[in-house]
Amino acid sequence: MDVQFHGAAREVTGSCFLVRAGARRLLIDCGLIQGAPADEARNRQPFPFNPGNIDAVILTHAHLDHSGRLPLLIKAGFRGPVYTHRATRDLCQIMLKDAALLNEKDAEHENRRRLRQGKRLVEPLYTRADADKAMRQFQVLDYDTERELLPGVRLRLRDAGHILGSAILELWLEENGNRRKIVFSGDLGHADAPILRDPETVREADLVVLESTYGDREHRPWDETIAELGEVFREAARDEGNILIPAFAIGRSQELLYFLKQHGREWGIDQWTVFLDSPMAIEATAVYGKHWKLFDAEASGRRKKDGDPFSMPNLHFSRTAAQSMAINRVRGGAIVIAGSGMCDGGRIRHHFKHNLWREQCHVIFAGFQARGTLGRSIVDGAQTIKLWGETIRVAARIHTVGGLSAHAGQSGLLNWYRHFERHPAVALVHGEPEPMEMLARRLHSLHANVLIPKAGERIDLLAPPPKARK
Ligand code: ZN
Repeated sequence: MDVQFHGAAREVTGSCFLVRAGARRLLIDCGLIQGAPADEARNRQPFPFNPGNIDAVILTHAHLDHSGRLPLLIKAGFRGPVYTHRATRDLCQIMLKDAALLNEKDAEHENRRRLRQGKRLVEPLYTRADADKAMRQFQVLDYDTERELLPGVRLRLRDAGHILGSAILELWLEENGNRRKIVFSGDLGHADAPILRDPETVREADLVVLESTYGDREHRPWDETIAELGEVFREAARDEGNILIPAFAIGRSQELLYFLKQHGREWGIDQWTVFLDSPMAIEATAVYGKHWKLFDAEASGRRKKDGDPFSMPNLHFSRTAAQSMAINRVRGGAIVIAGSGMCDGGRIRHHFKHNLWREQCHVIFAGFQARGTLGRSIVDGAQTIKLWGETIRVAARIHTVGGLSAHAGQSGLLNWYRHFERHPAVALVHGEPEPMEMLARRLHSLHANVLIPKAGERIDLLAPPPKARK
């Protein structure tokens, strides 16, 4: 009985863990590797296990770094069920289709170049047909309901409060009469975040696989973050430019709409024209609306009182490319929420081209920017960026509003761990090396045995607990 770390091992993206119990093989998440081109090229490498031997996949949530290689797994021979929360299924439907479309476009673009150079053509990573095929293998679950997936394998999903449908996995395994329980944190939400409930806590585990994205950092308190956002909107109103907000289509976009509506008067939002310039975010907002029963008490209350928490009279959904291009002509007074969240693709790049060099414009970074991404280089203070071979000056005001993170900060991670009885061993995943080391030190002081597995490393669940590293 063991768990092997095939992704998000000492890095943030590409979550993928293989659990073996007797003859059973389960894959927890099957995420895309995201970041610099050299990292993304690893998505094309064959899986380091035989997908045909996997009995079932369990997805923690819909983000592509957790779900985005699923169509590849199926192409490579996986035939079993994909268990996940019903809202995650609805969001994956949007995300995987969009990822597939991007793959097709990328391959088409690359092949036009290759044709001119007389080079061998490339295939898309996967197509929309592959994504559709993957969706047919989904089987949905609800939170808090224990379910036997296979003989000797039981699963319960708990609300992780990270994005709609996100789950902590409680996984009970049995092999030759030996029972063990692994808890996968998935991505843990940020307590008191809007819309969703706070992460559930768990008391028992033999091994905890814990994310560590913000293992070395605390987020600003919510009231400061809200005040900071309000200040940016007021400042931007004085400059009479546009505000660009790169945002993940799922989660961050809905939170922003929620805040804009909630603080509309106080922030002067009614003076602006708000564009949600992302077909994917528009679809995801509809999925959030459909699953309103998953909202926290505050959002449920607002929904009852003020109706749809994501709609405003001055909010425009721009679906088509023509609608998006029309925004480029707006010189001031527009708030544009567009993807991709880390600016490596999507419509936000077009808005950068038209606004980033203008001093009166503002950019709000409200999400995690991974190493190697365009967003990260701007946050790190790049003076110029390159878009489609053209050098663009960064003259707009850049704001990093870190407090809006969808991930728990260091104390959030530690508090979540504190709810476990008997200090179970912890394997840290989904983090860059420094945050992992910092979090490991703090966990040691809570008497935890902490492991930071390398890619391909295994933890034997039946061996005596591993010794804490100093
Ligand atoms: Zn996530």
